[in-house]
Amino acid sequence: MDLYSGYINKLIEALASLPGIGNKSAQRLAFHMIHMPVEDVQRFANTIVEARTHVKYCKSCFTLTDDEICPICANLNRDHKTIMVVETTRDLAAYEKTAKYDGVYHVLHGAISPMLGIGPNDIKLKELMVRLQEDVDEVIIATNSSLEGETTAMYISKLIKPTGIKVTRIASGVPVGGDLEYIDEVTLLRALEGRVEL
Ligand code: ZN
Repeated sequence: MDLYSGYINKLIEALASLPGIGNKSAQRLAFHMIHMPVEDVQRFANTIVEARTHVKYCKSCFTLTDDEICPICANLNRDHKTIMVVETTRDLAAYEKTAKYDGVYHVLHGAISPMLGIGPNDIKLKELMVRLQEDVDEVIIATNSSLEGETTAMYISKLIKPTGIKVTRIASGVPVGGDLEYIDEVTLLRALEGRVEL
C-alpha cells in the first residue's frame, strides 16, 4: 500500500539514492521540500542543474572548476614543478586549507580497486603521465591510506620511477582508511613534511 502520493514516493526514492542519505533522512527532506515555497524549490533545483552543467575538469590538474584552468594551476607564484597527487577535489581542498603547500596538484578522481573493478584506466592516471613529460622535480603521492589508496600509490610510483622524477609518499601519520578531508590541518602538514622517497 502506498502511504504517500506517487510524487512524494518518487522524490523520496531520488533523495535516498544519494550517498549518505538513508530512507528516514530522505523522507524528512522530501516532506521539507514539499512544504517549501515553490520559488525556493525552483531556485534549489536550478542550483543543482547549474552546478552540474557548468563545473568542469581543469585541463591541467583535473580538479573541478568553473574555468578551463583552475585558479591554482593559473597561479604563476606556485611551484609548478612539484605535483601532489590526490584522489579527490575534496582532498585538494583539505591541503589548500593548510595554506602551506605551494606546489600544484593532480586529481585522480578515484583510486585503483580491483575489488570494485576500478583499474588504472578508470582514474586520471594517463593524464598525470602526460604532465610528467614537462619539467617536473617531484611527485608527492597523497592518496588515502586505505587499501585502495596504498595500491594506487604503489602503482603510480612504479610507473614514474623509470622517468627519474623524484617520487615521495606522505607520511603514514594519517589514520588508516581515513579520508584526507576529515583530517585536521596539523596532521596533514606533518604527513606532508614527513614524506618519504619511494
Ligand atoms: Zn588545475
